[in-house]
Amino acid sequence: MLIIENLHARVEGKDILKGLSLTVRPGEVHAIMGPNGAGKSTLGNVLCGREGYEVTAGSVSFNGVDLLAMEPEARAAAGVFLAFQYPVEIPGVNNTYFLRTALNAQRRARGEKELDSMAFLKLVREKLKDLQISDELLHRAVNEGFSGGEKKRNEIFQMAVLEPKLAILDETDSGLDIDALKQVAHGVNAQRSPERSVLMITHYQRLLDYIQPDFVHVLADGRIVESGDKTLALKLEAQGYAWLREHGEPAG
Ligand code: ADP
Ligand code: MG
Ligand code: MG
Repeated sequence: MLIIENLHARVEGKDILKGLSLTVRPGEVHAIMGPNGAGKSTLGNVLCGREGYEVTAGSVSFNGVDLLAMEPEARAAAGVFLAFQYPVEIPGVNNTYFLRTALNAQRRARGEKELDSMAFLKLVREKLKDLQISDELLHRAVNEGFSGGEKKRNEIFQMAVLEPKLAILDETDSGLDIDALKQVAHGVNAQRSPERSVLMITHYQRLLDYIQPDFVHVLADGRIVESGDKTLALKLEAQGYAWLREHGEPAG
């Protein structure tokens, strides 16, 4: 589904990703861990085509097509979803309206019929039920006045409605109390499917207690320096990231 090869990317003239390679198959959940400033968020931003992130080498293939050649909207329509580390507020824009607009834009781009408000509402009610989220979220402006936990819950809800093929969750666990964390994890787990892959970016092991990844990777200094199963996350939890540096910094 996703094949990243030797990816190099630059932000504001600074090289951040330095030869990152990663393969994700359909249905797999991959956790990307690593120290602050390693380039984890940069990876997510590069994959969804965010402005200001310049790819200088390497390739990204998504279901056989060159993802890097696509506009951000086309990537979203193809099924790439990024939940931001710091979700944006859009004051005055109703959450339901925002989501329906986003969904219908993606459906148009895929040549599918748009959902009218009745069909959309039906979809939304189903998803809220699956995720055990109250419909109060629907009537508020996008993220306005949301607590940290509500924003993250809203992201998971957005993901459920947009039904991406590749969901990139960037520090979805940051700032959550344990109940909110469990609810978000439940939401992600409810959306696991053989057709959907998840890249879960996290600094801490905590989220992985609730969402079991198939693979864990350590991103340090712009590339994947270690890969393993979930026991790697436990090792990181116990030993921190310092031992990575003892391997010696990667050359170049
Ligand atoms: P992580 O998510 O692993 O903590 P980031 O990808 O956010 O790391 O950042 C990697 C490096 O890139 C950091 O040194 C950060 O300061 C820099 N960086 C990221 N985004 C920007 C940006 N928009 N402008 C300037 N520097 C940035
Ligand atoms: Mg960071
Ligand atoms: Mg980050």
